[in-house]
Amino acid sequence: EPLVLLDGISHAYPNGKVSLTELSFAVHPGEVVCLLGPSGSGKSTAIRCVNMLEPVTAGRLVFEGIDVTAKDVNQVEVRKRVGMVFQNFELFPHMSVLKNVAIGPIVSLKRPKAEAYDLARELLAKVGLSDKGDVLPSQLSGGQQQRVAIARALAMQPDVMLFDEPTSALDPEMVGEVLAVMRKLAEEGMTMVVVTHEMRFARNVADWVVVMEDGRLVEEGTPERIFEQP
Ligand code: ADP
Ligand code: ADP
Repeated sequence: EPLVLLDGISHAYPNGKVSLTELSFAVHPGEVVCLLGPSGSGKSTAIRCVNMLEPVTAGRLVFEGIDVTAKDVNQVEVRKRVGMVFQNFELFPHMSVLKNVAIGPIVSLKRPKAEAYDLARELLAKVGLSDKGDVLPSQLSGGQQQRVAIARALAMQPDVMLFDEPTSALDPEMVGEVLAVMRKLAEEGMTMVVVTHEMRFARNVADWVVVMEDGRLVEEGTPERIFEQP
């Protein structure tokens, strides 16, 4: 059974702009699905729908077997199960790096502080930033900030991680360190949906590739098939 199923999802922005038309694809447990397609094709909207940051206007979003588009579903509880990493990191600027990672478990999951900080230290080590816990995000490079953002999302112990162009705002020399962390997560079995223009990452790491154009799925398949030479 898929962990996430988009089943004929449509979406329009308040100004009437139709961004998704009957989009369907599945994300199975432990799988990395890459969403590819030109700018404006609806990739970001699609993962924002998965995170319930955008309301779908038609179709079903099924999360862990539950139709979460049903009216009686607690969206906050669903959202806690979904980690999200944005293009622009969106760290809390006035909190130390360590606190950025620990704050979600403390506030949203009501974890004891000592436990949350232990977990935060563990996750900073995992993304290679053990020595940066005490500094502010602004003192870090873009690549380091994005690795903190990944640690922060992981601290919520999500069932699936969504990445919205996680390397697009980075200087080229920092792209690799972020992709390496993502690849490690994938190898550890994390379920991931990744919007990216990094074709080498999609080819080497994705289990399934979804190609979008103008709000629609135009092609899906294994990377071997999607990237095969004609
Ligand atoms: P169906 O409509 O029969 O459920 P799909 O049309 O979604 O299946 O997919 C066709 C084939 O592609 C199936 O063999 C299915 O297992 C495979 N498939 C679909 N989505 C994924 C995915 N996210 N990861 C891996 N395989 C997939
Ligand atoms: P992608 O991630 O593939 O670049 P998006 O999901 O960001 O695509 O955008 C899909 C379409 O929706 C585009 O035509 C875009 O201009 C439009 N769009 C995105 N955000 C908004 C918004 N807040 N209001 C109106 N239209 C939007």
